[in-house]
Amino acid sequence: MNKNILYRSIPKVDVILEDVRVKRAIEKYSREAVMEAIRMEMDKLREYIARAEEEESAKKRIFDLVPNILQSVVAMHTPNMRMVINGTGTILHTNLGRAPIGKEHMKRAFDLVTGYCNLEYNLEAGKRGERYSHFEKLLCKITGAEAAMAVNNNASSVLLILSSLAKGGEVIVSRGELIEIGGKFRIPDVMEQSGATLVEVGTTNKTHLSDYEDHITEETRALLKVHTSNYKIVGFTDSVAIDELVPIAKEYDVPVIEDLGSGVLIDLSKYGLSYEPTVQESIAKGADVVCFSGDKLFGGPQAGIIVGKKKYIDMMKKNQLTRALRIDKFTATTLELVLQEYLSEENAVQNIPVLRMITEPLDEVAKRARSLARAIRALDLPAKVDVVSCESQIGGGSLPLERIQSMAVSIRPEKISVPELEYRLRHLPVPMIPRTVNDMIVLDVRTIDTDSFKIIASELKEYDVLEEVSKVSGR
Ligand SMILES: *Cc1c(COP(=O)(O)O)cnc(C)c1O
Repeated sequence: MNKNILYRSIPKVDVILEDVRVKRAIEKYSREAVMEAIRMEMDKLREYIARAEEEESAKKRIFDLVPNILQSVVAMHTPNMRMVINGTGTILHTNLGRAPIGKEHMKRAFDLVTGYCNLEYNLEAGKRGERYSHFEKLLCKITGAEAAMAVNNNASSVLLILSSLAKGGEVIVSRGELIEIGGKFRIPDVMEQSGATLVEVGTTNKTHLSDYEDHITEETRALLKVHTSNYKIVGFTDSVAIDELVPIAKEYDVPVIEDLGSGVLIDLSKYGLSYEPTVQESIAKGADVVCFSGDKLFGGPQAGIIVGKKKYIDMMKKNQLTRALRIDKFTATTLELVLQEYLSEENAVQNIPVLRMITEPLDEVAKRARSLARAIRALDLPAKVDVVSCESQIGGGSLPLERIQSMAVSIRPEKISVPELEYRLRHLPVPMIPRTVNDMIVLDVRTIDTDSFKIIASELKEYDVLEEVSKVSGR
């Protein structure tokens, strides 16, 4: 094989630029983008030839140069972040964006975020307003708190609360609650960041009221309780409930802070889940400040919601850190919309996607699973398609032991392997993330809305996903 001849047979740039397909691409995108793609693909081609061991494959690669250039221009203009179909059955999947926002809420938010809005403008008074004002009253009404605000996420809430109330002082926490929430967010580290000193009391499995009491000093600024939402210690355990802490906190005049994590506002035990403490309850039992995530069980946008006594919330609003952690107009408006749903439990369960998924009755899920299976079977693909029972989970570090009975569509490919099928599903224009169980892939229908069924069926068909040779990119 004479590589020099191969190199010389690569078309020159000016020749490529004369190709009609390339000209069309320049019109649609831009000359700069096409030129960059040409340079990239030329470099790749030269490298390929340098490593090539067969002349034929090198020639084919040269022949494919223009199609590869076009593909690379398209790829440059295709957003990398895209909608995926969550077939995992994990409702709060942090890697898949946690809580989905309701379509109706998004429609309402659309005009506000694509144009101007009264985010920090008081229309009544005709002057500067407060970005929390749109949802503060609602939060107070629903949780029973005196005041409220929100920051970027709940990790920020904890940081802001500690920095505002305890900087330079000590905060007492039970050793059973020194948790890592994920992504290296650990209570002791946040404490250090905030400038407060952590005082650990009790043991991993048992902490008594006296453990807190014995460590209260002149330096104590707060007692912190952290809801261990992402794991459970079972067996010989004891912890101090919020209502037991409140009287001693009062006696020593320090606030009780509770980080609830998931932010449940309705009693989920009514829907067959195990009991999770609600925000209202914490406030009613006397917690001074309570914080929780906006995009866990609350079912809204990413946010850290803080409710509690006005005196403390005011200290946080004045803290310099608030400026760095402040929410934007998208978060402010979606928080308001989601909170309005909570004015009626029925609306909340119906209109907040996370709650709707959690509470969807098994027979409804089964009906939808049968309908998806029918749609796939009608395509007559080389696969065995069935409806099987499975278990969904909450995820996102909430209710770790909880499993919800659910129904899934299983696909057993006849011509390709299960790992190959899983790979192809992941590389579709609307990727599907399934669960793999032995010799089949499983799509849990609880986390797939009915609107997506059409997408699933048409993609399986159009891309020959189950055939020996598919049209899925990269294969
Ligand atoms: C999830 C969680 C957090 C962090 O919340 P983000 O909104 O993800 O930042 C903090 N504390 C507890 C107890 C949690 O469960």
